[in-house]
Amino acid sequence: MAKVLIIGAGGVGQVVTHKCARDPEVFSEICLASRTKQKCDAIAGQLSRPIETAQVDADNVPELVTLINRFRPDLVINVALPYQDLHIMDACLETGVHYLDTANYEPLDEARFCYRWQWEYQDRFREKGLMALLGSGFDPGVTNVYCARAQKHHFDEIHELDIIDCNAGDHGQPFATNFNPEINIREVTAKGRFWEKGQWQETPPLSVSRIYDFPEGIGPKKIYLLYHEELESLAQNLKGLKRASFWMTFSDNYLKHLEVLQNVGMTRIDPILYNGVEIVPLQFLKALLPDPGSLGPLTTGKTCIGCRIKGVKDGKEKEYFIYNICDHRTCYEEVGSQAVSYTTGVPAMVGAKMMLTGKWTGAGVFNMEQLDPDPFLAEVAKQGLPWTETFY
Ligand code: NDP
Repeated sequence: MAKVLIIGAGGVGQVVTHKCARDPEVFSEICLASRTKQKCDAIAGQLSRPIETAQVDADNVPELVTLINRFRPDLVINVALPYQDLHIMDACLETGVHYLDTANYEPLDEARFCYRWQWEYQDRFREKGLMALLGSGFDPGVTNVYCARAQKHHFDEIHELDIIDCNAGDHGQPFATNFNPEINIREVTAKGRFWEKGQWQETPPLSVSRIYDFPEGIGPKKIYLLYHEELESLAQNLKGLKRASFWMTFSDNYLKHLEVLQNVGMTRIDPILYNGVEIVPLQFLKALLPDPGSLGPLTTGKTCIGCRIKGVKDGKEKEYFIYNICDHRTCYEEVGSQAVSYTTGVPAMVGAKMMLTGKWTGAGVFNMEQLDPDPFLAEVAKQGLPWTETFY
């Protein structure tokens, strides 16, 4: 029996709230708070049990502290935007509450994944006896736990890791992103980066690609090398790692639109003056693009996200792929959201459940691969994201 405060009433927040609401034994009281209270109320209206809702500006620490002190949660689940991470962590420290998020902190004016800012909270969380769980979505999140499982059960050393994220879904829109457009476009237009022989190597954005043959009827798709935040913690936590990279599929149509938007300056994150008013082109573009939450009823097809791992066990070379397949339409029928929000929201709820039921405990700041993968993977499968292992 625990009280949880969910911050952020977007696509992911909707899934987390649905899933927590269906597990009253663990999540006995829920408050959903966000910048726009109507969005919280709309989600609350879809549920079969009452929850509290609240308006909060999560960039304002005193406002967060007041809300936390009023509701007194055991845990804050942060599914707002990466810009809010440090403010919410500050408020959790001030009020003595555990913390969980799904994406690492990014400064507004610099598109850069980096755990340094949140890892710097290590001593403060440890001293207060509080736990901060970072990146409890799918990637980061389940992908880190897949690696922890591989390390615990299948390999003495992991040498090569490819995290592969395929969205083979179709929403029928000329151009839309499956999660927050601003965060998505910042991620995709950044330089590629991979880990090799103890060093980071950089590549121009979307300049490295290859074909990967996905299982279960998805088939061959072009995947592009990107930098993704889980590589940073995995490069530290996996024994013997020699190379690690992250890949994602994009349709030709998505890339065509993105190229034009970049060429005309619409993806810039620095402010420009328009009619005497400062605007950030990417934020303006976000206002024009479809809300990812609206894609739920339109999206069909599947996602496949997994880890292809090579290493050694008992002196022998071994290779395997661990992955999940998720169907957009099935997710929509269950919680009213497409699979990208679903595959993020379910692991956030499961990570919270691990913390609140004492299966994952500790004081300090943790990445997902540092905790026991077994109870998490058992629960994530039960909650709708089963996984499959193929050995080569
Ligand atoms: P959305 O844009 O749909 O939702 C974000 C929500 O946060 C919105 O409701 C927004 O409010 C609210 N919000 C933004 N700023 C503030 C603020 N200052 N105070 C209070 N609320 C605020 O995003 P998604 O649901 O798609 O993504 C949520 C998070 O999940 C992001 O951090 C994203 O990076 C992460 N993510 C992680 C993935 C993973 O696998 N690990 C995959 C996909 C996403 P308003 O509605 O008023 O704008």
